[in-house]
Amino acid sequence: MRAPTHDDGRLSIGLDIGGTKIAAGVVDAEGRVVERVPAVPSPTDQAAILKTVSVLIEQLRSRHPGIVAVGVGAAGLIRWPEGRIRTAPNNGYRDVPLRHLLQESTGLPTVVDNDANAACWAEYRKGHSASYMAFITVGTGVGGGLVLADRLFRGRTGIAMEFGHMIVDPRGTERCGCGTIGCLEPLASGRALGRYGSAAAAAEPGGMLATLAGGPGRVTGETVSEAARAGDPAARAQLERLGQWLGIGIATLVNLFDVELVVIGGGVAEAGDLLLDPIRSGFTRFVTAAAHRELPDIEPARLGPEAGWVGAALLALDHAP
Ligand SMILES: [Zn+2]
Repeated sequence: MRAPTHDDGRLSIGLDIGGTKIAAGVVDAEGRVVERVPAVPSPTDQAAILKTVSVLIEQLRSRHPGIVAVGVGAAGLIRWPEGRIRTAPNNGYRDVPLRHLLQESTGLPTVVDNDANAACWAEYRKGHSASYMAFITVGTGVGGGLVLADRLFRGRTGIAMEFGHMIVDPRGTERCGCGTIGCLEPLASGRALGRYGSAAAAAEPGGMLATLAGGPGRVTGETVSEAARAGDPAARAQLERLGQWLGIGIATLVNLFDVELVVIGGGVAEAGDLLLDPIRSGFTRFVTAAAHRELPDIEPARLGPEAGWVGAALLALDHAP
């Protein structure tokens, strides 16, 4: 079963407000992209973000009279359905009633949801046909969304599925951005991959990782992925380590929710099978009763970096009167 869709000429604006940039565009009710605008840098303060977003919306509206709704996917903890951003660790604002402010300024029905929820909805509506589906995004941080019985599961107040803060190693040494030791994110994010790569490069100063980065201390997650694609065994070992941790987290998620599909997106997932294979092996090793259950497929995301704003736009249409 799919969420209802109507190819009825209605258009929706989607915005993805990230820690560093804002992406936006227009889609129709089937999720087809009608226009995409070049990403703009995220301003650091609240007033400037509101101004930037309002200008983007007015520009798109002036070109597309069929626009009937606005959807925003934003990083951070967001209260649903109020669309109030409680906190966004990588942005300079706290407790912003963004949905209310945008509805006041535009007069259009608006939804504001977590960016990973929005991307999950895009993957569900446009990419995959699975009624029980988890979406994991592996970028600078680790996030997730969950579709259960064809509905986005948000928990009581909208902040469910904080996959990156699943506790997997409470006796570890890495402190998460949330302040806790033991979260999955500092072990399985792009930032973790850079840290693993730096240690590997320091152990092998003449190796490919150190050479590509221009020094062991300059290795990033991207360097590791690049070296891994070029066949460097040390780089591949770091992606395997990352994938194992993700597989452990996904095993717990599947134990709890029995989903039929797990979709892996985000910048680090562009490494493809170099990341997906260790995820699959870590998952199979740790999921309960692997031999006695139907294991979910673990597949790459299909929409790429546009999933956030496309999903937000679709959510807005799906909730618009
Ligand atoms: Zn955490």
